[in-house]
Amino acid sequence: MALHERDAIRDEMTDPLFGSGALRGLVPKYTFPLGATRSDDAFQLVADEMLLDGNSRQNLATFCQTWEEPQVHELMDRAIDKNMIDQDEYPQTAEIERRCVHMIADLWNAPGAANTVGTSAVGSSEACMLAGMAATRRWRAKRQAAGLPSDRPNMVCGPVQVVWHKFARYWDVEIREVPMAPGSYAMTPEQMLEQVDENTVFVVATLGVTYTGAYEQIADMAAALDRLQAESGLDVDIHVDAASGGFLAPFCAPDLVWDFRLERVKSISASGHKFGLAPLGVGWVVWRDSGELPAELVFHVTYLGGDMPVFQINFSRSAGPVVAQYYDFVRLGRDGYRAIHGSCYETGQLLAATIPTLGPFEIVFGSTPQDGIPAVTWKIIDGQDPGYTLYDLADRLRMRGWQVPAYPLTGAASNIAVQRVLVRQGVSRDMVATLIDDLRDAVDHMHRHPVTVPMTPEESSGFSHL
Ligand SMILES: *Cc1c(COP(=O)(O)O)cnc(C)c1O
Repeated sequence: MALHERDAIRDEMTDPLFGSGALRGLVPKYTFPLGATRSDDAFQLVADEMLLDGNSRQNLATFCQTWEEPQVHELMDRAIDKNMIDQDEYPQTAEIERRCVHMIADLWNAPGAANTVGTSAVGSSEACMLAGMAATRRWRAKRQAAGLPSDRPNMVCGPVQVVWHKFARYWDVEIREVPMAPGSYAMTPEQMLEQVDENTVFVVATLGVTYTGAYEQIADMAAALDRLQAESGLDVDIHVDAASGGFLAPFCAPDLVWDFRLERVKSISASGHKFGLAPLGVGWVVWRDSGELPAELVFHVTYLGGDMPVFQINFSRSAGPVVAQYYDFVRLGRDGYRAIHGSCYETGQLLAATIPTLGPFEIVFGSTPQDGIPAVTWKIIDGQDPGYTLYDLADRLRMRGWQVPAYPLTGAASNIAVQRVLVRQGVSRDMVATLIDDLRDAVDHMHRHPVTVPMTPEESSGFSHL
């Protein structure tokens, strides 16, 4: 190496970070970089870009985890090189996944929890797809065995998360979504029965409706379907999309019957990375018993060594979130989950009690364990026009870094805007007290500086259905 080049390298090594060439220039954005960048510089550049993302702890829109114990960070690091799919190479990780499935089956009261089938997935979305595919297969097999047509499957649901619209479109299933109406934000058993017919693959019930946080009345739906069967012979399965409620109700509302205690519930899915407290991304789906998972959906893969049964859409992914999920189960147990979620509910109730004192706001859902998740959803009182919209309020709160989304409801209620706060691990009483002060200031500011052209849903940036 020429002497002057060595000098150049030495210079670079002693440059103060922000005096270095890389940080004085622009990063390549949409063309592939020609040369290499020193790791320290590249790290700083990327880390600085991430600063502009906003602070995830102040993101009160998300249901997902934004705080983890140091031990979880350590386990995630140790699992960075482990591929979840490679059960032959990493048998203990595969065993950890199996243990999680059985623990979750136990949590959801599966009749033979030790023999249930289930799997991890990237999140609830993949888990819902798997449950939907299994249900469609079961329905088709039943129809074909009876010599009946099976070319027009439908599913019946209330206001669902976008994953079910995706499922319906990707797999050619007609979706019959009972629309919201003012004051009625979830599907009632009567509305459900109006939509169900012989082509109904399943009813999807949501434990924690995305828009409001409230639980649907799953036991009532199951009872209505029992009556339908007694009267007409139609036997319609239920899948519970318990993305958020699946790791809340068992701890904080153990007597609420929504799970496999209802015989009609054939499968349940949930997000580990929501109230399961695992880091992104892990979801779970469990079937009532192995008979509910059609064998032809399970593939047997041999090219990683051994014979591995797989039922997933995804293939390679990090084992980290699954390992961390197991840590959470072992670390917390039922008591630990109850303590964390219980304090979230209490904090949410404090917020729900305060919101109506701050402005012309009415609580739509207020963080009660029997009825829904630790979320607070509010709207402007009917007939009141404070001179601003909730979109304006959301925008103002952003000045302090808070992301408190405002969004329209759907169906006949789509002219109603709501605003929602998710209280989860890491959203402390102290943080919520600060949020309340900032809300008060924001409302006060808008009274003193009335908005001349209020913001519309399209203009607002705080929208999130996550
Ligand atoms: C979040 C959510 C989903 C999607 O879950 P992911 O884990 O984000 O894929 C599906 N259904 C409901 C009800 C949800 O709340």
